[in-house]
Amino acid sequence: MDKVKRALLGDRKAQEELTKKGRKLPCHVCGKKAKIMFREGLFVIMCSDEYCNCLCVAEPVRAMAIRKWNERAEILTEKEMEKLEVK
Ligand SMILES: [Zn+2]
Repeated sequence: MDKVKRALLGDRKAQEELTKKGRKLPCHVCGKKAKIMFREGLFVIMCSDEYCNCLCVAEPVRAMAIRKWNERAEILTEKEMEKLEVK
């Protein structure tokens, strides 16, 4: 299992390593890519699928936004992981 998958399953260490590299985990709801944008003074990370109903995160610091996004990705089960597009 690769680091991204471990992170999505709630592996704190994997989450931290990806966060340090500035990598965003895929959406924790649908598994599609996350996108980041700067809006009204905040870095906003959300799912690239506009119809996905996952919650976005918004932080004034880019690294903090990525951390927040990555570290809450711990709600997936192994079964849910199978649906993800993660390679
Ligand atoms: Zn999504």
